[in-house]
Amino acid sequence: MLFAPPDPSLSKTSYLKGLQCEKQLYLYKHHYDLRDPLTALEKAKFQGGHDFEDRYRSEYFPNAFDVEKMGKGKRNAYPTLTRYALEQGYEAVLEATFVFEGVLVMNDVLVRESDTYQLQEIKNSSHLKNTHIQDAALQYFVTQGALKKDLHVKIVLPDGSTAYQIHDVTPQVQALQEDIKINVAKFRKLLGSGQIPDVPIGAHCDTPYKCSFWGYCRK
Ligand code: SF4
Repeated sequence: MLFAPPDPSLSKTSYLKGLQCEKQLYLYKHHYDLRDPLTALEKAKFQGGHDFEDRYRSEYFPNAFDVEKMGKGKRNAYPTLTRYALEQGYEAVLEATFVFEGVLVMNDVLVRESDTYQLQEIKNSSHLKNTHIQDAALQYFVTQGALKKDLHVKIVLPDGSTAYQIHDVTPQVQALQEDIKINVAKFRKLLGSGQIPDVPIGAHCDTPYKCSFWGYCRK
């Protein structure tokens, strides 16, 4: 199905939480209100990420079709708006939204080059991390599955000045596709189980990020 209606059980955020801890994924999807409040540092980090993303996109893609802006927060409309932008021949689409195998992703930038596409993920990080590759690999899985077109993946990072590091991670994300298929099926089954998984606290609670249910698990 090219552009399915957005009724997925997983998103990029929830998938990455599942990779860290299946209990975290379950709590995030079914008991969201139990999460810890964001700290001032976490809020500042999120804002820094948004500001960096805005700067890069406005410099390189000032005339792109912005799905989020056009959809005015109505996420149900995002896949249809994405289809509209591609049919209208826009060369770049911001927050291009696809659903495949019950997973919804929003690409920071989707660039069209004739019949080939390039997905760009923008991260405000000094170096490339494994979690960036996992993130991009899920976006590849969904976007390529929905579009059925040749797709390349790049990760954009700051370079310490006003320029950018751009990493082509296409081979790395392609190598992860079979794992993603297995994980998506496993996570969807888990979410339908009706039971919070029994996972003991441990080193994984801090890696790669501090879990948002840290307080709940330690009561
Ligand atoms: S605090 Fe640890 S065990 Fe609890 S949900 Fe988070 S990662 Fe899992």
